[in-house]
Amino acid sequence: MIWDELIGQTPAKKYLGAVLASGRMAHGYLFSGPAGVGKRTAAYAFAQAAMCPQPPAPGQACGICKSCRWFQARQGAQIDHPDMIPLITFSKGRTGRDGSTNYEEKRVGDQEPVIKLETVQYVCEQLHRTPMAGARRVAIVPEAQRFCSGQAEAANAFLKTLEEPPAASLIILTSSQPEALLETIVSRVQNVQFKRLSSAEVSVGLSRRWPGIEPPDLALAAALADGSIGRAVELVEGDMKNWRAAVLAALEKFSARTFLAFGAGLWVLSDAEGKRLFALAQEAQTEDEDGGEGSGVRGQGSGMTPKGSTRRK
Ligand SMILES: [Zn+2]
Repeated sequence: MIWDELIGQTPAKKYLGAVLASGRMAHGYLFSGPAGVGKRTAAYAFAQAAMCPQPPAPGQACGICKSCRWFQARQGAQIDHPDMIPLITFSKGRTGRDGSTNYEEKRVGDQEPVIKLETVQYVCEQLHRTPMAGARRVAIVPEAQRFCSGQAEAANAFLKTLEEPPAASLIILTSSQPEALLETIVSRVQNVQFKRLSSAEVSVGLSRRWPGIEPPDLALAAALADGSIGRAVELVEGDMKNWRAAVLAALEKFSARTFLAFGAGLWVLSDAEGKRLFALAQEAQTEDEDGGEGSGVRGQGSGMTPKGSTRRK
């Protein structure tokens, strides 16, 4: 089942399933929420279901048709489906013997800070073409605020397509900074909210990506990932072993207020994450001293509490 890949996010799943089942799909969607919580997985699942010609049930995809097989062979943003429009830029290549200039296509990577006007123009032009394999032309634009950052021209070109979308088009924007998108763009798409995951959900996602992960590493990464599977993967792929060694050393050195030491150990290693945990630990300690309820890390696991905030009853 295509939606099994998406961990948690029940309200978003329900909403998108209902849209597919109703057959009344909008032309533009914005999947917004923290990084690494499944927005892109959901975008591809939604696109697959929207393009499957023989869904076995409303909101599902058959998994065996040609279109579904293209989706299943997807590697990240790399997909061979002829109606899925890639984000590409064109750089000047070699000059031909006749003096003509060749342009080389290059995919826009996830880390590139800006999506240029030429890419936006290419996507918009491609959306207007007749579908080759199915009923729709689809563009998925991850971290779509990248085409709004200081480039009015690119944002306006996109806005124009959103205002008058081609009949057979589907545009899915994702963003972990939706506030950086133009208000005029946000108002023309259906906004679907994605939430921070619980650490149990992060554990599930992480163990799927890393089936052989050691339980202590899994637990530590899930606890530190702040509700983001993407962050947990980064932690595991990064210097997790060094982190663990340093944290264990810190725990041995200081005993009583272990969590404070835990945060301090991390502070040395990772400024941002350590500072955040240290602040939380200090807050927890103050509350304990005041006879306040609860302890430990807040803002994790609820899926609703903003980063670093404290829930109070
Ligand atoms: Zn299918």
